Formats: sequence, C-alpha cells, structure tokens
Amino acid sequence: MDKRRILILGGTSEARALAGRLAERPDLAVTLSLAGRTLDPAPQPVPVRTGGFGGVPGLVAHLREQAVDLLIDATHPFAKQISANARAASETTGIPLLRLERLGWEETQGDRWTRVASIADAVAALGAEPRRVFLAIGRQEAKAFDAAPQHHYLVRSVDPVDPPLDAPHVDYLLARGPFAVEAEVALLQAHRIDVVVSKNSGGEATHGKIVAARNLGLPVVLVERAAVENDHRAETVEDALRLADHLVASFRKRGV
Ligand code: NAP
Repeated sequence: MDKRRILILGGTSEARALAGRLAERPDLAVTLSLAGRTLDPAPQPVPVRTGGFGGVPGLVAHLREQAVDLLIDATHPFAKQISANARAASETTGIPLLRLERLGWEETQGDRWTRVASIADAVAALGAEPRRVFLAIGRQEAKAFDAAPQHHYLVRSVDPVDPPLDAPHVDYLLARGPFAVEAEVALLQAHRIDVVVSKNSGGEATHGKIVAARNLGLPVVLVERAAVENDHRAETVEDALRLADHLVASFRKRGV
C-alpha cells in the first residue's frame, strides 16, 4: 500500500501522544520533528528527525523532498516562529496544515492573576520593589529578567540556562514535569516565593504551580498567547486524530 506521509512538528507531550496513535495506522508513515533543544529528549513512538529546517525555504524543501501529504504543527503554544513557518510553508506548497494546540488555563476563584502579553511585560509587572520570584517559563527567555535585577529569582528549567542570568540573586533548579501540586506548594514555601511567573501553556503537566499559588494565595504573572488563525485546528489529541483522518481521506478522494 502507498502510505500517506505525515510530518508532525513536535516538542510537546501532545505531539508524542498523537504520533503514537497515528503510528497504529498501517496506511500512514509518520515522522516527528524535534528542534533538538532538549539534551535528553523523551523517547518517541515514531521515527524522529532533529534540528531546524533552515527557515521557511528549508521547511518547504523538506516537505517536497519527503513528499509529505499532511503537516501537523503540534509544537508548544509559545513556539511562535516554527508555527509561523509551518503556516507559510503550507501556503507555499499547498500541503494541508493541521494545528494541534492545547487550551490555555482558565482563571478560577482564588486565583490572583495578572495577565500580560509578553515576557517583557511580565518583567515590568513585577514592579520596582524587590520580590522573591519563581520563574517557571523555561530557559530560553529567562535572560529577559536581567532587566529587573532587584528581584530574587528561582529559575526552573529542563536544561541549564546558558548563559546564566546577570542578575545577582538567582537560584537554578533543573527539573522536568509533570509536577504535583503538593510538591509545588512545598517548593514555593521552601524558597519563600511571593510571586510566580508562568506562560499560559495549558495542560496538566505544569498546572501544579498555578494550583499551588492559588492554595497559598500567591499572585501569578501569566504570559498569554497571541491569537492565530488556522484553517484546521484541534485542541486535543482526539480532535486532531479526527481531523487528520478527514484530511487523509480527502487525499484519497482527490486520488492524489
Ligand atoms: P521557535 O522559537 O518557534 O522556533 C525557532 C526555530 O527552531 C524554528 O525557526 C526552527 O528552526 C526550529 N524549530 C522549532 N521547533 C522545531 C521542530 N519541532 N522541529 C524542527 N525545528 C524546530 O521554537 P521554540 O520556542 O524555541 O521551541 C523549540 C521546541 O521546543 C519546539 O519543538 C517546541 O514545541 C518545544 N517547546 C517550546 C516551549 C516554549 O515555551 N517555547 C516549551 C516547551 C516545548 P528553522 O527555522 O531552522 O527551521
């Protein structure tokens, strides 16, 4: 059987789960693409290619060379560049693009959120007075907080922040989720944290810090996502499977 070829842009637990489900299908050949940022990435259920493509032209060339039938962008909600590249490459090649993006967290009673539009706004939202900040935004943008060196930071990331911050009061913690609420409460208390900075990533694995902050009555500075339009959009792995099915079936109808 001539298999339909699917390329999943990954780096999230949803991408891994979706790859595993699609891999069960004998009519599909699925490859997962990782940026190669994480030194020790989690094992994946399908063949993996690693590293950037070289911008939109590189992605377009890869899609054509590999005769990809469906591109699935299951990257992190805050990985803006690769998602923009995926949209541009889909437009250029006509290869359909399915976006899998999990929902953000919703504010509930007891939450004390300050929603901001960017990391720079999060830095500003901490204010002038020194605070003890839990910085749980990953390592790539932590350097932005050098702009507010009066605060004491606890920075948690999967891989080391390199180069480290220039701000004088910084503790680093290397850890990979999922994080349980009780452990997050204990961490915030042990470091006498008085404000949490997080992206509104959504999902369960990193929600513990949000619940922990609520339980302790602590404020959270939450960086929100920019809204982006996609023709084919799914919020869960199940929705993505249904849409992928539909898109794959439409190749057959076209007799491609
Ligand atoms: P980004 O800023 O949107 O992308 C920067 C460049 O990295 C892209 O232009 C592309 O290089 C390459 N790239 C990104 N994702 C790729 C993928 N899945 N496969 C191949 N190349 C990829 O991305 P980012 O925010 O650095 O995120 C990198 C990876 O970490 C993504 O896979 C994402 O899902 C994951 N992640 C990100 C976050 C976050 O908060 N940003 C959190 C958790 C996981 P070329 O232009 O050369 O193709």
